[in-house]
Amino acid sequence: MQIAKNKVVSIDYTLTDAGGEVLDSSAGKEPLSYIHGTGSLIPGLENQLEGKSAGDELKLSVPPESGYGERDEALMATLQREQLKSLGNLQEGLMFSMENEQGERIFTVVKLEGETVTVDGNHPLAGLTLNFEVTVRDVRDASEEELTHGHVHDGSHEDGHAHD
Ligand code: ZN
Repeated sequence: MQIAKNKVVSIDYTLTDAGGEVLDSSAGKEPLSYIHGTGSLIPGLENQLEGKSAGDELKLSVPPESGYGERDEALMATLQREQLKSLGNLQEGLMFSMENEQGERIFTVVKLEGETVTVDGNHPLAGLTLNFEVTVRDVRDASEEELTHGHVHDGSHEDGHAHD
């Protein structure tokens, strides 16, 4: 069976940056399962998986424009510690959500200097060319229930699965 819209696809993957550093991997974990064609994955990954089958191995390079986008320096902000005191112990790398003009957004603390806190609202992978090594493990039809819910129902998790 080939990967196409509304198939449930399971993949093993390793994501590295341009310098070869591993940023994320399914190694040692369950494969990643998603419903194809619903925008669950970044476009550069999802598009290149189209038409592949179980057992296929791919090496992909995804530029920022079909990955997490280019960095937007306007999403950098300088705050005072006082404004973030509800977060408790601030440290670099801490992620939190905050409202801005475009709505709710995840920010990362990138620098602490005295009372000044520099935060970055860009996705941590924005602006990067991402290299994926992907092995397709399984391709199957999605059930109607999965399509209605918009997510995969893994057999082993069916019982405790809460639905709105
Ligand atoms: Zn569900």
